[in-house]
Amino acid sequence: MSIPALTAYLNGQFAPLNELNISVMDRGFLFGDGVYEMIPVYSRCIFRLDEHLARLARSLAAVQIHNPYDIVQWRAIVQQLVAKQDFADQSVYLQVTRGVAYPRNHAFPWPEVAATVFAFCDPLEMPPASAYQQGVAAVTTRDLRWLRCDIKAISLLANVLAKQAAVDAQAAETILLRDGKMIEGAASNIFIVQNGVLYAPQISELMLAGITYDLIIELARQHDFALVLGDVSEAMLRDADEVWLTSSSKEILPIVKLDDQPVGNGQVGPIYQKMLQIYQTYKATVMRRAQ
Ligand code: PMP
Repeated sequence: MSIPALTAYLNGQFAPLNELNISVMDRGFLFGDGVYEMIPVYSRCIFRLDEHLARLARSLAAVQIHNPYDIVQWRAIVQQLVAKQDFADQSVYLQVTRGVAYPRNHAFPWPEVAATVFAFCDPLEMPPASAYQQGVAAVTTRDLRWLRCDIKAISLLANVLAKQAAVDAQAAETILLRDGKMIEGAASNIFIVQNGVLYAPQISELMLAGITYDLIIELARQHDFALVLGDVSEAMLRDADEVWLTSSSKEILPIVKLDDQPVGNGQVGPIYQKMLQIYQTYKATVMRRAQ
């Protein structure tokens, strides 16, 4: 598919996406040396923008890239970009790399160079309604990633391979297992339900603290779900009554098949249905507030 002429942002300028170029010496290209965010936009209302910008700031600090903008400047860039699109439901991609430097050297450039800041919006593509009603399949694989998966780094090779494993198996997601524990999906967080209790891994350096994960936990607490945050073993995952995946681009999806075995009774579960309802009500409230 050719690159569309949608308005995008690169280093202080708005320009058509298909006209933007960066240097081959950009450290994002050479080393995967950068971080990113993906933010959903519903009816031009940017979902949890400040939470995404806070996570971006944390990722930048963790990899020692100087944050090129303060929160007010970031908000303005994202808001302008969203306003420039002619579709209302969007997904905003933001990326910051350590910048362009020559010669190629693993160590940080010195003197410091300006970070490369890139952002663009796509039309928000949600899974089809049938995925929410009937559920999706997932597979599992060993988590081959590094030990700082809490950083939303653009170096995603292990996630790319894991996601392709799902595609090859005609599944929607790959769940990553490390040392007998369920960690997260290739591009999502995972919750399970067993005997009416909702379980999710507690935040650690081994997983990304999803903005959606945080919201589900917030909503579960508000609505008095039985909730346990802690290690989720592979055995618990395989024995679960329900398994859900959460992410900004998919919200909450029920997983009804895992490695070709049914999850629970193989049907979308009642706790999932309750949370989906709560989530949709929350989203509608946020969008009403923004009008
Ligand atoms: N974990 C990983 C590895 C991810 O890539 C994502 C989605 N970017 C998530 C979890 C979910 O995060 P969020 O809810 O912020 O989209």
